[in-house]
Amino acid sequence: MRLYLICILSLTAYGLSGQAEYPKDSFRSPLDVPLILAGTFGELRSDHFHAGIDIKTQQRQGLPVYAIADGTVTRIKVSHWGYGKALYVAHPNGHTSVYAHLQKFSPEIEAYIKRIQYERRSYEVEVFPDFGELSVKKEDLIAYTGNTGGSSGPHLHFEIRNSISEKPTNPLLYGLEVRDATNPTLTDVYAYPLSDNAQVNQSQEKIEINFYRQADGTFLADKVFALGTIGFGVVAYDRQDLAANKNGVFSIKQKVNGKLYTDLDFESFSFRETRYINTLIDYEHYNKYKKRIQRCFKAAGNKLGIYNNLYNDGKINVRDGLTYQVEIEIADLEGNVAKLLIPLEGRTQEIVKSKEEEASENFLIASKPNNYKLGSASVYFPTNTFYQDFYIDLEQGSDTIKIHDSRVPAHKRFTVSFDITKYPPEERKKLFIARLDRYGKPNYMSTFKRGTTFTTRTRHLGTYTLARDTVPPKVRSKNFKNKQWLTNYRYLSIHISDDLSGIADYNATLNGDWILMEYEPKTKTLTYNFDDKILDKKQCELKVVVTDNVGNTTTFNSSFYRN
Ligand SMILES: [Zn+2]
Repeated sequence: MRLYLICILSLTAYGLSGQAEYPKDSFRSPLDVPLILAGTFGELRSDHFHAGIDIKTQQRQGLPVYAIADGTVTRIKVSHWGYGKALYVAHPNGHTSVYAHLQKFSPEIEAYIKRIQYERRSYEVEVFPDFGELSVKKEDLIAYTGNTGGSSGPHLHFEIRNSISEKPTNPLLYGLEVRDATNPTLTDVYAYPLSDNAQVNQSQEKIEINFYRQADGTFLADKVFALGTIGFGVVAYDRQDLAANKNGVFSIKQKVNGKLYTDLDFESFSFRETRYINTLIDYEHYNKYKKRIQRCFKAAGNKLGIYNNLYNDGKINVRDGLTYQVEIEIADLEGNVAKLLIPLEGRTQEIVKSKEEEASENFLIASKPNNYKLGSASVYFPTNTFYQDFYIDLEQGSDTIKIHDSRVPAHKRFTVSFDITKYPPEERKKLFIARLDRYGKPNYMSTFKRGTTFTTRTRHLGTYTLARDTVPPKVRSKNFKNKQWLTNYRYLSIHISDDLSGIADYNATLNGDWILMEYEPKTKTLTYNFDDKILDKKQCELKVVVTDNVGNTTTFNSSFYRN
């Protein structure tokens, strides 16, 4: 009897329907404010799927963040980019919660990380505390929300990962409450002729399909006439009840004559596969129009594991004279659905829009390594840098090379090299490899300099050039003047910028001792907190040395007084 009871209890604790991975009542919310999302799990982002949820923080920073359950801090990372200040807490049930873009940590964790920052003399640090070194209890204050790293507005980025595989899972599967009775919104539908002679509505190229909302809320497309192997793609977003944010949808299902052809969802994915997002979306379309079409079929090179079911790779073989009913269902996690019906008929039609044939002298075979010499520069693509073969467009000028363009996504890094022999040695120091953006502005690329060869590794096709930076960074104080009394000041704030190659390094001392200055690239600000150090002298000498990516240096000196 007792054994029986224990079984029931443990089954209940982990849910009864094979949902053992998603305990529903173990975790509290990381915040005390209602959960309103600025981003959902699996949302389509640039080169990755969003690995967590973005919780809105009332347009401000400093909201308390709580441990969602008992656990131990396993990782603290502070970086200028990415997650900014981030905290990882492992819980006994095998899940790790992640809190990112934080303003600061709780006093205990803040003291722990500052000690390490002073030891290593670096704002950017990553530490893995020993198990139990920093224990937390459910509801403990662990941090404050912020806007650090690659965040474009105050919010909390929150993840739940499997502690062992590190696979992020959809945090909303754990019973966190988000009000959502709003259906996903379908904005565009496209049909793709896929086989050699396939056609859709007199086109051999991708074509947009018109559709209308019907009285019952479902959508009906104009009848599609096609032949050969075709596929569909949709542009859709999901909105929750309390915000206007256009978030990602949870699942897409495609049925043909009632048979399930495609079934994908964002329950979980791995960081290893996240870049394959560029095979799920129509990358060329995205590059041109900034709109992401999610394709209901599996395209070349797609190794995503987000499919629960895939028949014929989601592709439809359309035969002359037959009719098909295609049904696409786009759902959010609450089960709100946008449903589209596409009547489809097999018919040969006169082609009005024929296939755009692209050709250049270089046909790149993706499954082989490829090396191209472009004057004094060269480019090397390792095997499977790309998802498919294509005609690569290459051009060479003096110190500027065009390596195709940004329409084609690269999965792996490739190498771009320049021979700089013709430059005198003192000039070489100021040179770096830059990629020109769409406005022709040079962007610094990490440049490895070995002898007379400069090399960079990149995943972006486009135009590369040798650029020159001879101007040192600019450094100025933001909230104090030289020889000022700063007795009641809590912070020193300094503005740093570099016009071309960018900030590589900064170092500050007070009366000769290294001090921690927190760098926020978005606001170009270095901040020193007077709480860090008890100053033993009335007169303080501040020295800040800032270096750009080619080694141009600016030294800023200032004195101030403090009681
Ligand atoms: Zn996020």
